Amino acid sequence: MNDVKTILMLDGDGIGPEVMRETRRVIDWFSANGGTRYELTNGLVGGASYDAHGQPLTDDTLKLASEADAVLLGAVGGPQWEDLNFDKKPERGLLGLRKELGLFANLRPAVVFEALAEASTLKTDIVAGLNMIIVRELTGGIYFGEPRGVEKLPDGSRKGVNSLVYTSDEVERIARVAFDLAKKRNGRLCSVDKANVLECTLMWRETVEQVHADYPQVALSHMYVDNAAMQLVRDPKQFDVIVTTNMFGDILSDCAAMLTGSLGMLPSASLGEKCADGRIPSMYEPVHGSAPDIAGKNLANPLAAILSFAMMLRYSFDDTTSADTLEDAVKRLLVSGARTADIMEAGGRQVSTSEMGDAILFELENTAS
Ligand code: NAD
Repeated sequence: MNDVKTILMLDGDGIGPEVMRETRRVIDWFSANGGTRYELTNGLVGGASYDAHGQPLTDDTLKLASEADAVLLGAVGGPQWEDLNFDKKPERGLLGLRKELGLFANLRPAVVFEALAEASTLKTDIVAGLNMIIVRELTGGIYFGEPRGVEKLPDGSRKGVNSLVYTSDEVERIARVAFDLAKKRNGRLCSVDKANVLECTLMWRETVEQVHADYPQVALSHMYVDNAAMQLVRDPKQFDVIVTTNMFGDILSDCAAMLTGSLGMLPSASLGEKCADGRIPSMYEPVHGSAPDIAGKNLANPLAAILSFAMMLRYSFDDTTSADTLEDAVKRLLVSGARTADIMEAGGRQVSTSEMGDAILFELENTAS
């Protein structure tokens, strides 16, 4: 009998339902043609959940998320929900899921597909063939540290405070995720910190060094964040895996994203700690938002969502073969010239969201035959 995995599909808002529709077709293809059957359940999140239930994330959706083998999310947000109170905003749904599932590791690959290398703002030879991944700590650091806030001083001026806080346990668990990844990839890990100025990140560096003792096959280097920002645009191909703090990762992963030329091509994964039953809570989502400007027009690029499913195959289901099959199909369809509007800069034949879905299924069928 086939192995069965359950995936919670959270379409969300804007272009979310459109890109997820094409991703469902891809998942169904793998159910029919691979060794695993994927059972899809559906839930509401973000603005869609607010409209139906008055809140961006319900207990029902959370329960479905914690029971599923993995979660795939489209996108949340839109102008119609912008004036809501902070706790009702669609983005709170996303943050709530991350928090409740304990997703502390955010994986953002930056891959430049050969056929799209010319779409990057950097020179083609700098980015062609780029394949790196940034591991960002997602639940600690300065975005969550206490004390925080703004207070009024006796002289009438104000003082703003945020605190960069990490425990060595938090550093160790994110370092292990990064070392494990590097071990499966090209065996190079660069830990990014600001150890020359911030004591907290000196402790980060020392802890990463200690964890390294368990991964002798991985070459570890350290880099200050200012240098890392410079190196990312000077010579990004020197990197295999980068691991860094929440705030540095936030900034560097957006910088790395731009190297690839298009938001519509970028997948991501967020992983939690292994449960007693062996499952790792995980949520996969395109990096892009709900793109209200093109929502409902069949224009959105579904490849970031589809590549997010490829990451799910690789990291949640340990199915490297299927992940490679899917990523190779994406490469071939790009070589064939199929392009949604957002990646037309590199030339080619413009297709709609659903035609991009057709194109990927065509390539998958070609693999199978
Ligand atoms: P956005 O990513 O939605 O869009 C930025 C630009 O990129 C737009 O011009 C859009 O048309 C284009 N774009 C994005 N994804 C695309 C795709 N798949 N195919 C083709 N073009 C694409 O960012 P924004 O405009 O700053 O935000 C819009 C809404 O999305 C806001 O409500 C914001 O809060 C929300 N948002 C959600 C997430 C998320 O769900 N993870 C992330 C970022 C922003």
